[in-house]
Amino acid sequence: MVKQTIQIFARVKPPVRKHPQGIYSIDEDEKLIPSLEIIVPRDLADGFVNNKRESYKFKFQRIFDQDANQEIIFENIAKPVAESFLAGYNGTIFAYGQTGSGKTFTITGGAERYSDRGIIPRTLSYIFEQLQKDSSKIYTTHISYLEIYNECGHDLLDPRHEASSLEDLPKVTILEDPDQNIHLKNLSLHQATTEEEALNLLFLGDTNRMIAETPMNQASTRSHCIFTVHLSSKEPGSATIRHAKLHLVDLAGSERVAKTGVGGHLLTEAKYINLSLHYLEQVIIALSEKHRSHIPYRNSMMTSVLRDSLGGNCMTTMIATLSLEKRNLDESISTCRFAQRVALIKNEAVLNEEIDPRLIIKRLQKEIQELKDELAMVTGEPRTEALTEAELLQLEKLITSFLEDQDPESRLEVGADMRKIHHCFHHLKKLLNDKKILGNSTVSSESKDQDCQEPLKEEEYRKLQDILKQRDNEINILVNMLKKEKKKVQEALYLPAKGRHEFRHSQSPPFPPGNPEEGQRMLLSSAPSQAQDFSTLGYRSSLLHKKTGMREEMSLGRQEAFEIFKRDHADSVTIDDNKQILKQRFSEAKALGESINEARSKIGHLKEEITQRHIQQVALGISENMAMPPTPDQQEEKLRSQLEEEKRRYKTMFTRLKALKVEIEHLQLLMDKAKVKLQKEFEVWWAEEATNLQVNSPAVNSLDHKKPFLQTSDSQRELSQLLSNKSSGGREVQGQGAGRFAACDVNARKILPSPCPSPPSQKQTSTSTSTPLEDSIPERPVSSIPLTGDSQTDSDILAFIKARQSILQRKCKCTSFGGSSRAAGHQHLWGAHSEVEGSREFSERS
Ligand code: ADP
Ligand code: MG
Repeated sequence: MVKQTIQIFARVKPPVRKHPQGIYSIDEDEKLIPSLEIIVPRDLADGFVNNKRESYKFKFQRIFDQDANQEIIFENIAKPVAESFLAGYNGTIFAYGQTGSGKTFTITGGAERYSDRGIIPRTLSYIFEQLQKDSSKIYTTHISYLEIYNECGHDLLDPRHEASSLEDLPKVTILEDPDQNIHLKNLSLHQATTEEEALNLLFLGDTNRMIAETPMNQASTRSHCIFTVHLSSKEPGSATIRHAKLHLVDLAGSERVAKTGVGGHLLTEAKYINLSLHYLEQVIIALSEKHRSHIPYRNSMMTSVLRDSLGGNCMTTMIATLSLEKRNLDESISTCRFAQRVALIKNEAVLNEEIDPRLIIKRLQKEIQELKDELAMVTGEPRTEALTEAELLQLEKLITSFLEDQDPESRLEVGADMRKIHHCFHHLKKLLNDKKILGNSTVSSESKDQDCQEPLKEEEYRKLQDILKQRDNEINILVNMLKKEKKKVQEALYLPAKGRHEFRHSQSPPFPPGNPEEGQRMLLSSAPSQAQDFSTLGYRSSLLHKKTGMREEMSLGRQEAFEIFKRDHADSVTIDDNKQILKQRFSEAKALGESINEARSKIGHLKEEITQRHIQQVALGISENMAMPPTPDQQEEKLRSQLEEEKRRYKTMFTRLKALKVEIEHLQLLMDKAKVKLQKEFEVWWAEEATNLQVNSPAVNSLDHKKPFLQTSDSQRELSQLLSNKSSGGREVQGQGAGRFAACDVNARKILPSPCPSPPSQKQTSTSTSTPLEDSIPERPVSSIPLTGDSQTDSDILAFIKARQSILQRKCKCTSFGGSSRAAGHQHLWGAHSEVEGSREFSERS
């Protein structure tokens, strides 16, 4: 058992702008315990924060200042937890702090650079690396990813995320068994056999979370995410299985609302926005108070799930993330205060070992057998209740018929009951004595009879032993039948979850099917899902395809709009950068692959040469009648050192290639995630534009009903021209919709200046449905647009053109700065095949 208080660490986020000096300082006391001092400037100290104090000091295990990178954080915080997790202890790392202080950055990582990957990917990498090295045990790893939003649990790995909205998916709920163990119903566990599979699951969960997020449901700040690695290990041949869980937790933002209206409030009076965090604090207060018997874990889902991590069987670590800017000082102080309380909590981590139930059965059977033997043959402690009259009568009958039976093989079957056996003996003795009294026997015959008694007794013993054996066989058969029945029932129960069941079991052969916990889990995850193979890149790309699947059905106008939206999106820079890095990595990997092949064949040649040389030497030795050349062959020495050198080179390159593979994989995941995000934002923008259009322009609706057929090649060209104006027209899609996004996420987007469009040729058609708004700009009227006849497509085209016009108009009015920033020579974002497909298809058709 390992007793330990919760370890607390602090991490200070680099500021967006440079910090004013002297807001905080990091020192060490005499015992080298670091402390963080937060100095509240006088202007702030008045009223808002307790006005009597100006400086607050908090001790931490370690404090990581702004310059600490992700590698340092992993090495110092996560690696020790991962190590004890691998040794079989439960572990938890949770990040706590206000929104924007770097919780997600610390736990999951930044979305841009490979070097920014956070604790989860690094820990997964470390765990799988260690598992691979250790061949002494059989390991099985499963992943689950839970999100708790508004006290509701959601399975982020539920495959039905693609098709259903969050509300339609079954909620994850808590079940408590009689031993007060917590089980999570509807939370799926997915086996991961490699780092890649585990990373795919992380990506899948994050993407599902992003997809489900709406401005109303700000999952990223208001929800808690618990990424859990479940590890089972067992030595081959051993009956002991170890289970350990590692929770990596990204909590909701810890910001509070201060009571308004009254000045001079202490910070502790401020209330959490998030109710679960409030309950978390209650649990922590209860745990840090001595002699508190009741800990209110049950109040919230999160505290129930993390029950072991808080004052239980777990090694727990907290990272207080701090954004030490002037306006955040009060929140930073509450975060530190919370950490100080957490540091008082003691955990007791124990190894979670379990004996293989099959072995238990075997051992018990053996024990029963031994006890029975002992009971029957040696000590045979009598039972307290005596045999009934009827039983006695029955026994006497049996004895009589046994005595009368002429068959020498006949048996006296009384079962394995010592009382009956004893009674038989007594009865036989009595019969014998009775015989004696009756004088039916002579002195000599009496002595003969006594001699007989010994073999008779022995024979009785043997018979009884046989009987015992038979009974045991019966018991075994019955036990087997029972087991079969039980299995059938279980299978019937699993039927809805067959896919997942099979998937899990087909991949985890080392563990017995009777493992109760596994059984429990499977019973609990009764969601009807299909077998999923998360192992391959193919899976991921197909997922991405599904996520962005709507694009396949996109009309041309919408595709075009998407291209522009994509181009102007701030994330495109990141995507471009990552694409460049990816390209470099690919070519590096390719070059490395070639060098590795070269090295390999060189090694082969060298080995061959050495062998040849050896044969030659031996042949020479024989021909000269000498055993072996007395001095080592210099040439051979040289070849050997060359071989060693080549092997070293090969190994170095191979290690690098492996690392490259992980990096490439990660970058691809980042890019995929960015693509899904972009797609999602585009859909939102598009929907908004379409709604605005319907509100503003009844003309569109009427057009929609008319479904005009103008699909001449001429009109197609017009559309093509109209749409291709975007390349000179520039940033249309940064209109109202995108502008709104910019307001939500200021840092993430840049609004680029846009030039006015070059006036297109004035070519009017007969059905003029243009609104005054359209007339005011030198743009082709709506009626000249060639429509396809398909109402959905047509409304899409119209929505796009309309939005474009209104934006252009606005820009023309308010923009005096022309010139395209990145317009003309701009490359497509990520140039992937499918993304350019839309525009290529378009130009071919036109
Ligand atoms: P939270 O999850 O606490 O709301 P985030 O992790 O999303 O905060 O961080 C907010 C922003 O700050 C993100 O853009 C993130 O990349 C950046 N950030 C946070 N911590 C760091 C850090 N240590 N170094 C660099 N950037 C950081
Ligand atoms: Mg976050």
